[in-house]
Amino acid sequence: PDIAALDADLIECRACPRLVRWREQVAAEKRAAFRDWTYWGRPVPGFGPTDASLVIVGLAPAAHGANRTGRMFTGDRSGDFLYAALYEVGLANQPTAARLGDGLELFGTRITSPVHCAPPANKPTPAERDTCRHWLVSELDLLLPTLRTIVVLGGFGWQALLPVLAGAGWTIPTPRPKFGHGTHVVLEGPTPLHLYGCYHVSQQNTFTGRLTPAMLEDLLRTAGRTAGI
Ligand code: SF4
Repeated sequence: PDIAALDADLIECRACPRLVRWREQVAAEKRAAFRDWTYWGRPVPGFGPTDASLVIVGLAPAAHGANRTGRMFTGDRSGDFLYAALYEVGLANQPTAARLGDGLELFGTRITSPVHCAPPANKPTPAERDTCRHWLVSELDLLLPTLRTIVVLGGFGWQALLPVLAGAGWTIPTPRPKFGHGTHVVLEGPTPLHLYGCYHVSQQNTFTGRLTPAMLEDLLRTAGRTAGI
């Protein structure tokens, strides 16, 4: 198995009835500004090279962002903020992400999530998180030969990721490490893994200045160094 085969299976997944309904309903109804789009409306696979050493993990696709464009963090304000920073620190070849086929490439970096379908109100249920877990477990397993570092965006992503890491063989210390911006732990497991917490790139954080471009770039630079990029 390789990541391309995994992604091909993933985009056919219909395991969560509520999320399948929602992703397809959003895709059919559309937002007025995007009425000319054919929404993706399916599970969104990870994006970036399959030999990445740095993995960036969110929580789930956005209804009119990745659920529209079919690529992680592509087509919304959160993604604009993230890709601008990735470009600034040399992890992307261009600062913008608009649609599939826009020429965007990541260097040594893959972006993925513990839940692959857009949830209502951006909130997957615990059962949906559990159901989706095996996809990211398998993706991390396939990335193992190169994987060094994970950056998690936001506390919900952090809570969803720890069980994924446990499922993929890493030891989660007790008490469980708490999420914070700049939190850094090194986990023992199939390979030593640097794990960083980072405030989510949502507008709630970026419009209020809780997360500035400089803060995100600093964290990505540090994480990139531990990943050997
Ligand atoms: Fe499948 Fe994950 Fe989407 Fe559920 S959230 S339908 S498990 S891809």
